[in-house]
Amino acid sequence: NSVPSHILIIFGASGDLAQRKLIPAVYDLYRGGYLPEHFALLGASRTDYTDEQFRDKVVFDSEFFTAEQKEQAQLKEFSKLLFYQDLKVYDGKEDIDKLKARLDVLSQEFRTGSNYIFYLSTPPKLYSTIPGALAASGLNAPEGGWARLVVEKPFGYDEASAKKLNEDIQSFFPENDIYRIDHYLGKETVQNLLVTRFANGFFEPLWNRNYIQSVQITAAETVGVGSRGGYYDGSGAMRDMIQNHLLQVLAHVAMEPPIRADAVSIRGEKMKLFQSLRPIKGETVAKQVVRAQYTAGDTKDGRVVSYRDAEGVPDDSTTETYVAMKFFIDNWRWAGVPFFIRTGKCLPLKVTEVVITFKNPPQAIFAEFDDYAMKCDNQLIIRIQPDEGMAMEFGMKVPGEGFRVKNVDMDFFYRDLTTQDVPESYSRLLLDCMKGDPTLYARGDSVEVAWAFTDPIIEAWEKGEAPLTTYEAGTWGPAEADALWSDVPNGGWRNPAESLVDDK
Ligand code: NAP
Repeated sequence: NSVPSHILIIFGASGDLAQRKLIPAVYDLYRGGYLPEHFALLGASRTDYTDEQFRDKVVFDSEFFTAEQKEQAQLKEFSKLLFYQDLKVYDGKEDIDKLKARLDVLSQEFRTGSNYIFYLSTPPKLYSTIPGALAASGLNAPEGGWARLVVEKPFGYDEASAKKLNEDIQSFFPENDIYRIDHYLGKETVQNLLVTRFANGFFEPLWNRNYIQSVQITAAETVGVGSRGGYYDGSGAMRDMIQNHLLQVLAHVAMEPPIRADAVSIRGEKMKLFQSLRPIKGETVAKQVVRAQYTAGDTKDGRVVSYRDAEGVPDDSTTETYVAMKFFIDNWRWAGVPFFIRTGKCLPLKVTEVVITFKNPPQAIFAEFDDYAMKCDNQLIIRIQPDEGMAMEFGMKVPGEGFRVKNVDMDFFYRDLTTQDVPESYSRLLLDCMKGDPTLYARGDSVEVAWAFTDPIIEAWEKGEAPLTTYEAGTWGPAEADALWSDVPNGGWRNPAESLVDDK
């Protein structure tokens, strides 16, 4: 295969992400035959494990592998590629020397050459110190090999901190070797947005202000903050979901056609799209953005206490667990088309979807045959998760007299396309990084521009210039979110339970 030999080094390997996502993703690649013949994985963190103890933790005692998998020879063989190096601190010279010596031994034993992917899966405060320490010891540019750096979210806390972080790590690794991971971009359905738009002849001609009435993106979770309230309270829905994942999804929906499907073209178009977002600041924040916290209620997963009563959350917290916003893209394609995003915790369904609503035909000639005025419900629904797929809704004639119109939908589920499981985001993204393809990773400058869009909104909230409201857990959010649609004819949030429910 085309993946070059290398060693994958995971900093923070004792943590949750490594166990839950990264090691299973690497195993998926191993099972699928995607890993190079010469490969090893080195976990590194402060906890004291031997190689064997590390393998037990992340494989044999891990709940993220099934009992059946644990009996299989394949998983046992895979575990022999996993090693562990304990560190005192992450950026001490002594530590990095130890790491380097270990990499020398492993690269000889596994004949990987000096090719390294360094994955930062630690708390973000180490995101610039670890690359600095790697650079000080020359591991950022190993002789006769290459090095890449994968950085987890959050990438900064606002525009200024993202700029600083970019400057720091770009002084140690060239931008082309920095992979800022956004796991939403690893989702098949997010990538499929590009294929839907740019591999078909009939969508793109309609994909503009002449035919599209509105675009809405919903990312709903049923769970509350659980025991992660302490972490979440320092972040909130705008930073945790919108600045990164949902603006990335938006870019796939709204960007101009790239001239090629490569990193330079696609990431260049996304950057242009982010630059075209009309700023929301000052007084417009209260008019266009709704923020809210959940109060106690019954959710799909049972009764939850209010956000402010959750473990680790201060009684007077103003962190939002829900955001709904309306905004515009100031370019030729989208001038005047309202875009809507909503995301929240403790909502009725776990679902992420994009809904493109097309304009009404110019004349409603069948309206007289119907009980209701013809509604604008020509919609294209792109379901990102779960029940990955697409549906098109349009009017058909009701059999019988006259011309009564009824909405029907044509749908497609991903599971009908392939008998294989849809690959996990982390597997796809890791494989791309191994191949040296950063197309589905966020580029440094676009991360800064995305922060520049969300910063003034957060700033207005912090100054108390826009209200904080509440919604009962288990509902679709506060009524104020519906009011955002007040000037859009026949507009409104789609109820995701209405279609694209995979009941097989
Ligand atoms: P974590 O469990 O809190 O931390 C990972 C490891 O970092 C810990 O096991 C710990 O290992 C080490 N560490 C070093 N300094 C630490 C400190 N001061 N406090 C706590 N741990 C420290 O984090 P994670 O959930 O695995 O996530 C890793 C990174 O990915 C985070 O930046 C997170 O924001 C990001 N992320 C996580 C998820 C997720 O689903 N978990 C999703 C998206 C992004 P030692 O004590 O052994 O050194």
